[in-house]
Amino acid sequence: MANIYIETFGCQMNEADSQYIADRAATAGYALTANAADASVVVLNTCTVRDNAEKRAYGRMAHFRALKLADPSVKLVVCGCLAEQDRDRMHASAPYLDGVFGTRDLARLGDALASWLPDFEDDLTLTDERLLLAPMGGSGDCVGDAYAHLRAFVNVQRGCSYYCTYCIVPHVRGRFDNRPLDDILAEARAAIARGARELTLVGQTVNAYKEPASGADFADLLEIVAALPGLDRLTFLTSHPKDYTPKLARVMGSLSQLNARFHLPVQCGSDAVLRRMNRKYTVAEYREKIALFREMCPGWALTTDLIVAFPGESEADFLATLALCEEMGFAQAFMFVYSPRRGTPAAHWEQIPGDVGNERLRRLAAVIDAGVRAWHAPKVGRVVRALVQGPSRKNRSKLAAKTTDNVTLVAPAGPLDESQLREHPWLDVRVSEAFTWGCAGEIVGVAARYDAPAVAVDARETIDLIAAG
Ligand code: SAM
Ligand code: SF4
Repeated sequence: MANIYIETFGCQMNEADSQYIADRAATAGYALTANAADASVVVLNTCTVRDNAEKRAYGRMAHFRALKLADPSVKLVVCGCLAEQDRDRMHASAPYLDGVFGTRDLARLGDALASWLPDFEDDLTLTDERLLLAPMGGSGDCVGDAYAHLRAFVNVQRGCSYYCTYCIVPHVRGRFDNRPLDDILAEARAAIARGARELTLVGQTVNAYKEPASGADFADLLEIVAALPGLDRLTFLTSHPKDYTPKLARVMGSLSQLNARFHLPVQCGSDAVLRRMNRKYTVAEYREKIALFREMCPGWALTTDLIVAFPGESEADFLATLALCEEMGFAQAFMFVYSPRRGTPAAHWEQIPGDVGNERLRRLAAVIDAGVRAWHAPKVGRVVRALVQGPSRKNRSKLAAKTTDNVTLVAPAGPLDESQLREHPWLDVRVSEAFTWGCAGEIVGVAARYDAPAVAVDARETIDLIAAG
């Protein structure tokens, strides 16, 4: 059997696209491998949202070229946002590539995969744009990641029409394109049938979703997906403050299947900067929305994205961002120094020196870290349920898992093995220590579903969890 290796950079949209590629590849007879050296096809799914993502992608291309030099039959493919943006440059500067597929022609990659295995007969239409969900490890035996099938991304929308002045996304992924509700539901059902315990509805501005035919909005979509038989947990990424409506707030508060985490990027705490970013809300409006969210969803984690050193950001603007972060108590934040992107308006404006940006990022991180620690600290001494992710990268005798408020837990695996965890992927972890990266503890029980009773785990002996469950 041929192997395929997929390396993904960037946001949830790229993760979802990689899932699509894995599915097409599995249908074509490829097995997913976690090791590029074992693969006959290597796919690099790239990001261009910031300059360092772009540099990394070019670095990885050069790295994979060595595989091709060693074995010219290996197919090397680049896709994603950088491929969309730099298609011509890649064709010219990297003639060794077997394919450059932009975000708009991903289906052609599926066709190419099939053509590289001449015996294969594809039963999907060649222009099929649907993201047929499959576990990243392929159906059944997961080679790449034994637990990847527990989580599935369901793409509800492509592109973005908001044109924030710093952002490349609308330029490389196009304007909003909302998928029909029936397609989304078919995919969600298929993912549940394949064992997904957590579905993530993804879009760049997922809460701006509108069903083209019926006019159903994102709140309606959440209610419909949450009602699917067999659904365990549901979450969504990424929301825009402008589209957080009272109706959506009410629906989020009413659905017990939703994960207790809301990611609502604010970007900065100064109205002047938000205006220049074309963010379409003021700090006061963001505050109001969060007040509503806190009322409707008490106890949920609020997470965000922040950009520092956007053109024209004064020290006073930056201090306003620090103050807003202290006030909001974000449970987690993705923080970035502004990175000029070719073809976006802000790239032409006067730039803030790099050392100022780095210094602001450090100061911001100190404030955010304090909030993160404050979010983690109350978990110490409690038993917290989390969905297994796999062996911890730092210590493979430990398991890593994610809580429904998106906190990483790490605990010794003890007697638990892969087959037991496939049946009982929810871990009950007694938390003993909190850090900024997450929490550590011991596993005291496992469960088949989020709301199912736990089966006790005795760390001193192996118990037959399947029989016990
Ligand atoms: N659609 C989402 C939103 O509007 O919040 C975010 C999508 S973007 C892929 C993820 C994050 O990357 C943004 O929220 C922003 O913080 C950051 N980002 C985007 N463009 C950037 C740039 N040019 N420089 C630095 N950070 C950037
Ligand atoms: Fe980019 Fe703004 Fe669209 Fe988010 S809302 S993807 S930051 S243009």
